[in-house]
Amino acid sequence: MSSARKRSDAQSAQAFAEAKQVIPGGVNSPVRAFKSVGLTPLFMKQAKGSRVYDIDGNEFIDYIGSWGPMIVGHAHPEVLEAITETAALGTSFGAPTELETRMAKLVIERIPSLDLVRMVNSGTEATMSALRLARGYTGRSKIVKFEGCYHGHADSLLIKAGSGVATLGLPDSPGVPESVAVNTITVPYNDMESVRLAFEKFGEEIAAVIVEPIAGNMGVVPPQPGFLQGLRDVTTQYGSLLIFDEVMTGFRVGLNSAQGLYGITPDLTCLGKVIGGGLPVGAYGGKREIMEKIAPAGPIYQAGTLSGNPLAMAAGYTTLKLLGQLGVYEELERKSARLEEGFTKNAKELGIASTINRVGSMICPFFTDSHVTNYDTAKLSDLQRFNRYFAALLDLGVSIAPSQFEGMFVSTAHSDEDIEATIEAHYQALKQL
Ligand code: PMP
Repeated sequence: MSSARKRSDAQSAQAFAEAKQVIPGGVNSPVRAFKSVGLTPLFMKQAKGSRVYDIDGNEFIDYIGSWGPMIVGHAHPEVLEAITETAALGTSFGAPTELETRMAKLVIERIPSLDLVRMVNSGTEATMSALRLARGYTGRSKIVKFEGCYHGHADSLLIKAGSGVATLGLPDSPGVPESVAVNTITVPYNDMESVRLAFEKFGEEIAAVIVEPIAGNMGVVPPQPGFLQGLRDVTTQYGSLLIFDEVMTGFRVGLNSAQGLYGITPDLTCLGKVIGGGLPVGAYGGKREIMEKIAPAGPIYQAGTLSGNPLAMAAGYTTLKLLGQLGVYEELERKSARLEEGFTKNAKELGIASTINRVGSMICPFFTDSHVTNYDTAKLSDLQRFNRYFAALLDLGVSIAPSQFEGMFVSTAHSDEDIEATIEAHYQALKQL
């Protein structure tokens, strides 16, 4: 992998044109369209282990991993077996199954802050439902979120910061009413001072603080020492709930997720991605006293035709079991650390401004020399450079997310050879900048 190879995208271009006739923008989730990088999106045909294959016959070492879920690699034989065995018994009943209890038990066992957990179908549903619960439980309306954190596309969470610190939010998308946005207070990540200001101003009205305990939607931005504890303290002081959105970090950064890594106990936790093992799953859970307010145990309504779907439960359970095997996270750490080390050396050698943020198998090289601790500093990254780097990497057979504001996900299927080949491709891509 020492020189750029010629990559055809003729089939993908044709498929994209066709898709645009019948699907808005040709895709079912915007980032897939490669709009910001100005390239033809890859239409995928197949994936196995660390590799994805597009319809033009190109093969890539994949670090998107379906945006996080594929932590044991694509089409893992045990996951496939669990799905097919379960499918043979019927694909959905709309009635309770023992698979759901088995799954809930496992999730609760791994994440001690959960007494009860409710399965839903996506991360968006998880955060949306957790917010309703927080509001219903506290009888308050406002929430605090952080600039650059993404929690799915529910109205209350699709809010950008107003001008100034700790001000009320503005809709981030047409269709989000201002009357909803005013209940979302947006503050900079890793900035306890602003959080405290928000609480001094609105404390008695704040139902919850929702946070990615490791931010993964402005690139990867770890919490600074004391930040998560600060959130725990201030929410406790004001009787608000602390919601960890672990849709991305759940079972990604460790068997007990980010809350285990940092030793902080949130009131509610949102999960998604990895717990579905590649099928559509989300979940939210927390303290019994709070979760028992959810229907039918309590009055706060939330439901789902396909929630707890047997195929999804089988895929998720099998994935979590695989992750529970001895040494899995240590291996992910070792390979990811090697990737970081290789990238750092490459950038240094070629004199390219670079800051690499990493927590476990979430890794993000930014094109800036500055520390990246929040959304403003993430935006210091040279995005033009990123776009050229992204295109070069694809031509070199490495697939990463088409945005500087996303991390790379290492899976257990990435071999040491994959990691070394990726470091070499990174070198070649940087050289071409
Ligand atoms: N929360 C976080 C932290 C996420 O990263 C995402 C998705 N990237 C979501 C929520 C929304 O999940 P979904 O796309 O499954 O709705």
